[in-house]
Amino acid sequence: MLKKNSVHKVEITDINNLGYGVCRIEGIVTFVAGAVTGDTLKVRIIKSTKNYLVARIEEILSPSSHRIPSDCPLFPKCGGCVYRHISYDYEKELKREYVQSAFHKAGVEAEIASVTSDQRISGYRNKVQYPVGSNGEIGYYRTKTHDIIECESCPLEEPMLGEVKKFISDHIKAQGIDCLRHIYLRCGAATGEIMVCLVSEKNSFPGLEILADEVCTRFENVKCFALNVNDRDTNVILGDKTYILRGNNYIEDELLGCRFRISPMSFYQVNHSMTELLYSKVIELCGLKEGETFIDLYCGCGTIGLCVASRAKTSSLLGVEIIPEAIENAKVNAALNGIENAEFICGDAASASLRECDCVILDPPRKGVAESLINELCDSGIKKIVYVSCNPDTLARDCALFTEKGYELSTVYPFDLFPRTGHVENVVCLRRN
Ligand code: SAH
Repeated sequence: MLKKNSVHKVEITDINNLGYGVCRIEGIVTFVAGAVTGDTLKVRIIKSTKNYLVARIEEILSPSSHRIPSDCPLFPKCGGCVYRHISYDYEKELKREYVQSAFHKAGVEAEIASVTSDQRISGYRNKVQYPVGSNGEIGYYRTKTHDIIECESCPLEEPMLGEVKKFISDHIKAQGIDCLRHIYLRCGAATGEIMVCLVSEKNSFPGLEILADEVCTRFENVKCFALNVNDRDTNVILGDKTYILRGNNYIEDELLGCRFRISPMSFYQVNHSMTELLYSKVIELCGLKEGETFIDLYCGCGTIGLCVASRAKTSSLLGVEIIPEAIENAKVNAALNGIENAEFICGDAASASLRECDCVILDPPRKGVAESLINELCDSGIKKIVYVSCNPDTLARDCALFTEKGYELSTVYPFDLFPRTGHVENVVCLRRN
């Protein structure tokens, strides 16, 4: 085994989606944080196992042409961005290669389109969840730890969210409020409406009412001020109970001309302008005509299904989603947008009773679609499935099952909803002849 602490000269030949450069030392695969394809480096081995090594950059002997200087003092400590040190063009190339290799590993032949992006690589995030430390420090966890690094401003977030965070942070430090676990903020990019959701172990604490008043007075766009109670010893951020202290139990936003109410517990895409591009592709791939019917599985607060229905004047939409608050939003959202013939059911998509329809949209969480649901979809002979995914690996795995059962894959379209991070969204259409 190669010795820990030994120093080596290496050429970086690859970079993975966790932001590690890859090289070989005496034939053994070595991961180097912050290294870029094309770098020549002096590295020190910091971990040595039978199968791989981890090394740290000691000196950049000759930098890769893809390198740019990082503009964030927290990079890469906070673990949010993995690509702040490379050009955005190269990042898009890497993301396309990542999708390609996921399909290759799953044994599925697929054509991968180039990555669609609106080139807005900062200020795009409309949702933030900051951990709060016991001394009132607010920021992000240092990678792989529970230490909080204070974050003055994150280049990815919508600037208005940074202002609200700063205000709350100053207030809780001044008042000695020490029972907050997270500060969860969201804004509607099209409406400017802001949601503030404090996550605490307690359902009440001294200074809470004053804090609610001060935040709502200072930021008149705060349309929803909530307290979520989470007293469990868990990494999950939100607990089961949410109390609305000021305003509504939702904020509103618009996508492709449709209006949506979104509650704190409901999923909502974090990048507004890219979501519009993604949904436009979904509408195109569904190709639904007036009078046709479709099912939106994992529908959240109904955004995709209602955007599709409002464009195509379909005759029926069934949405299925597991979070009750999201389903309540979806029902109201159908009415807000004048979509009749829409039905939303709260439950597990895997046990939804599928009716005959012209198209099924799937948009599961990272773990992908339950195999039982894939089998059911295949057996029911649905002709067209449009699959939206935030995880290329589970998308490719699931596409392998669909293609084994006779579905044909369209081009896979990557959409960069998360510039500078290792994540990439994809959409693909599966058709049965
Ligand atoms: N299509 C929506 C939401 C996509 S995110 C949009 O574009 O906004 C995935 C959604 O799946 C989340 O809302 C999550 O709550 C929901 N979900 C997770 N597991 C589920 C399950 N087993 N059955 C149904 N919905 C589920």
